[in-house]
Amino acid sequence: MIIDVHTHINNYHEDRVVSLEDCLNKLTDTMEENKVDYSLVLSSYKVNEHRPSTKKVVEAISDRNNLGVVAGVSYLNYDYKDLRELSEFLDAGLIKGLKFYPGYEPFYPNDIRFKVMYDMAIEFDVPVMFHSGDTYAPNGKIKYSHPIHIDDLAVDYPDLKIVICHVGSPWIKDCMEIVYKNKNVHADISGLTLGDFSDKFERYMKKEIEEMIIYAGDPKYLLYGTDWPISNMKSYLRFMDQLELDEDKKELIMWKNAAELFKIDVSKLG
Ligand SMILES: [Zn+2]
Repeated sequence: MIIDVHTHINNYHEDRVVSLEDCLNKLTDTMEENKVDYSLVLSSYKVNEHRPSTKKVVEAISDRNNLGVVAGVSYLNYDYKDLRELSEFLDAGLIKGLKFYPGYEPFYPNDIRFKVMYDMAIEFDVPVMFHSGDTYAPNGKIKYSHPIHIDDLAVDYPDLKIVICHVGSPWIKDCMEIVYKNKNVHADISGLTLGDFSDKFERYMKKEIEEMIIYAGDPKYLLYGTDWPISNMKSYLRFMDQLELDEDKKELIMWKNAAELFKIDVSKLG
């Protein structure tokens, strides 16, 4: 069983518009090729012709039982209509979590403007995911996406389930302290490379992730994710194969942690 907690259907090569249906088909074809059973699609904090709204993604995946949606939220632009829509989606079980994009947008995770989002996530018992670490774009401001700022949030909201995306790369040591210290914080390993891992980079990241597990203990906090289509699924699975970890621990990372955290009914898959 494989669950990928971090994929996108945005069109990053913005020379032509690809339909949402085509994007979803490409995702599920790639999942099938790689024997991935379930993926979470993370919508963007922006909506434009290349980045569909959460509503559109929710509607488009309604007949696909191997996909779930995590709703991207804009710190700068959300309004009462978004809050109403998100609460309705959460109430109806149509979204599995919320995703925020510090770094791409200038805010720290413990910003009071998002308190309403965190209270909502606690009430509906869904995790909140944070972009963390490097930004894909040079106009991002990475002081905001440093994983150290997640600690404040984790301490102030002990009932909030938090996911640090990309293990805060390149600040993986900071991320491992935050997940070690705070029971309510998870991390996903997505987006560590663009496309395929090079041999050199794969060796480097293997060491980093193995060190994280040595320090923070049993990987109950670690989630498999790729950031597809930014990172390649096949290359990611090969990376996981090379990690020196017992099978039962690998299983936690590959799907068990995700199934529990996002309440994914795996009996309906495969
Ligand atoms: Zn991503």
